[in-house]
Amino acid sequence: MIGVLGAGQLGRMLALAGYPLGLRFRFLDSAHEAPVRDLAEFLQADFTDWAALNRFAASLDVATYEFENVPVETVEHLARCVPVFPPPAALRASQDRLDEKMFFHSLGIATAPFVAVDARADLDRALDEIGCPAILKTRRMGYDGKGQYLIRERAAGEQAWQTLRRAGSISDRQTAAYTPGLLLEGFVHFDRELSQIAVRGRDGRMAFYPLVENHHADGLLRLSLAPAPKRTPALEQLARDYAARVLEALNYVGVLTIEFFQQGEQLLANEMAPRVHNSGHWTIEGAETSQFENHLRALLGLPLGAAEARQPCAMLNLIGELPDTRAVLAHVGTHLHLYGKKPRPGRKIGHITVRAGTIEEVLVRIERLRPLLR
Ligand code: AMP
Repeated sequence: MIGVLGAGQLGRMLALAGYPLGLRFRFLDSAHEAPVRDLAEFLQADFTDWAALNRFAASLDVATYEFENVPVETVEHLARCVPVFPPPAALRASQDRLDEKMFFHSLGIATAPFVAVDARADLDRALDEIGCPAILKTRRMGYDGKGQYLIRERAAGEQAWQTLRRAGSISDRQTAAYTPGLLLEGFVHFDRELSQIAVRGRDGRMAFYPLVENHHADGLLRLSLAPAPKRTPALEQLARDYAARVLEALNYVGVLTIEFFQQGEQLLANEMAPRVHNSGHWTIEGAETSQFENHLRALLGLPLGAAEARQPCAMLNLIGELPDTRAVLAHVGTHLHLYGKKPRPGRKIGHITVRAGTIEEVLVRIERLRPLLR
């Protein structure tokens, strides 16, 4: 039995990947509405309800998490009862944007310039150092572009400060203790955004998916293209090298994602997620072994599967509203995934993967689908 903290769509896709291998799953989440509800054991409880956590841990073989704002204490508690992967240290490093950036630097991985901001005067000093435009971010609980303020010119500093100081309520799924504390980051005029998904097994072997090109709007991932068009071998090698450094430094087990900004042949790490990732959904139909299956293989100490793409793919997130299923499926080469979540503005409720023989054809197919998505 595999225990998973978090019961959202990532958990659902993990379970769906595990059933062909004969695996069984138990999930725990504080949210009532859980996309895994219909397909696995589900325990609804607060992540800091230790009694519930002990019930959850009973007779598990291994545990993991699919939500990176699970409190580290929860994962550490669980790790005293059952092996937990990825290691709690990976979760800790990814929960605080400042620690995460310092961790990247300690491994020689480039990032945008950044300065810690704990008081109003720090912000002025940070703006002097970094200049505008810059982005003020909360150190914790930021995801999907939440907890950020773009400062285009210095005069907007005060507004940014006032907005993010109150950002203690930024998450509707708030579970980790909120640590006030911000950081200012230089705005990167990137060529594009890329992500590297990698996996490391219990024996230390690693596999790397091809680089993925990601398009965001309003802080949310909208479209991924995989493998990233026009990626050079040097760029791919750099991304793999960076991912390998993180995996080895943490003695990591499972899937890890690093999001990068590309500037020419340079990669600046923006953040890492110690879990399966939205920019890897294409791997379900598009890769030799999906990120979900490889995460499970890693946790269980099984041999990892090949991570090569079978064909060029695109993944379109369905956000806020669902398209007509019949109309989507009428298009050649499309695969629809619905998460069983109630549509709400800004909410990821499903995705579509499109495959074709060439990336050009994938892009043509995406354009044909667009009118179905408002
Ligand atoms: P994050 O929550 O850090 O992943 O940021 C969400 C999105 O905001 C990123 O995917 C980028 O599109 C944009 N963004 C974040 N940080 C920066 C930056 N320093 N420079 C330019 N764009 C950024």
